[in-house]
Amino acid sequence: MDKPVFTVGERVEKLCVVCNEVRGHVVVSITKRGQISRVSCPKCGQRSAYKSGVAADAAASRSAAKAGAPYDRTRTYRAGQSMMHPTFGLGEVTKVIEPGKIDVLFADRMRRLIHSLPAAE
Ligand SMILES: [Zn+2]
Repeated sequence: MDKPVFTVGERVEKLCVVCNEVRGHVVVSITKRGQISRVSCPKCGQRSAYKSGVAADAAASRSAAKAGAPYDRTRTYRAGQSMMHPTFGLGEVTKVIEPGKIDVLFADRMRRLIHSLPAAE
């Protein structure tokens, strides 16, 4: 079976028990088989174990994004994901420029968007 292989420094969505919110966590350690074992919350710094059941949820949300989920600036995008922007229409993330900025190719041209913003209180 083809399981996704992760690397340290990647972002995965997980419920932070301290913030009590689902947010993109930074992968801090992986198993020999390339599966995530521990992640760190970028907001509060809480480190927690990453359970495979949660990984399935993250994979589900990734495939939802592939179908062109609405652009959400609080979401953390990866290259290859699609989004539906309210103004520019369907776009595909071509590159993560830096934490917080992505290049997205829309039907007419490339645009730089922000992402991974903390959710508004
Ligand atoms: Zn947190």
